[in-house]
Amino acid sequence: QVKASGKNNFQFFKQSMNEKITERLFLENSLRNAIGNNELFLVYQPKINLETKRVYGMEALIRWRHPEIGLIRPDKFISISEETGQIYNIGLWVAKQAIIDTKALHEAGHILTVSINVSSKQLENEKFIDDICCVVNEIGIDKSYVELEITESHIMSNIDKALKILNELSDKGFKLSIDDFGTGYSSLSYLKKLPAQTIKIDRSFVLDIYKDEDDRSIVATIIAMAKALGKDVIAEGSETQEHIDTLKYLHCNKVQGYFFSKPIEIDEFKEFVDNF
Ligand code: C2E
Ligand code: MG
Ligand code: MG
Ligand code: MG
Repeated sequence: QVKASGKNNFQFFKQSMNEKITERLFLENSLRNAIGNNELFLVYQPKINLETKRVYGMEALIRWRHPEIGLIRPDKFISISEETGQIYNIGLWVAKQAIIDTKALHEAGHILTVSINVSSKQLENEKFIDDICCVVNEIGIDKSYVELEITESHIMSNIDKALKILNELSDKGFKLSIDDFGTGYSSLSYLKKLPAQTIKIDRSFVLDIYKDEDDRSIVATIIAMAKALGKDVIAEGSETQEHIDTLKYLHCNKVQGYFFSKPIEIDEFKEFVDNF
């Protein structure tokens, strides 16, 4: 009996494995045509300065409208594209579209910074700096309005290489931000050396900030440390009035999250800024 059920489990396991592999191959293949078929698009989430009560920036986040499956979030396809190398061209497409949209906002009188997520797989390509500079110059925007967000864990997985390329990007005039901060085990000595202007506190620390004393202490420590290093801080995942109040109390005056707005398409974003 035990044997039989073991065998059934294995059959079930095999079946679900097959389904996973089939789904993965399916996504991988359809991703090849996603750019050409205009299936990728960007949504933007405002970054708010609580002190000045202004929208000072926006983060570009990719979405994939698959003709059969429908909307697919990046968590589902970015890692696949990193494994296949497709992330490189996708990343350049994101940068180009985001900068085009930002330039249009500037021309409409809204001067703000755009943040673009960049994964370590993109940075590893030796053409990255040339290609991203080319995109920016072609469209014609000052690099100080373009911030590249790189996750802390990506930086820490190969710190010396990361430092070299981040310094080059910073020298070219790009802004840099350390995304998902607090989850990547960086040491203070490296943090000091990183040319990033901004530290982005991971939303896992923000979630219970108004009721969990430990999380509140962690956030307070990150803020104090950032201040000591002359860096700016922003809290991601600010969803409620309690989050905002606690962050304000801790002197974290820059926030991003559902409380102010979900990520929205550029036309809606423009309306949001117009009415803010
Ligand atoms: P991230 O860069 O940390 O982006 C923040 C994520 O949190 C976004 O998820 C955003 O929609 C979500 N979020 C924003 N406010 C709130 C909130 O108040 N509560 C909660 N629960 N979530 C909130 P999204 O758009 O699904 O993106 C997930 C991740 O995928 C991003 O994390 C980023 O690492 C990656 N990603 C997105 N777009 C790109 C891209 O163009 N290139 C690369 N390389 N990665 C991207
Ligand atoms: Mg980000
Ligand atoms: Mg993040
Ligand atoms: Mg993240």
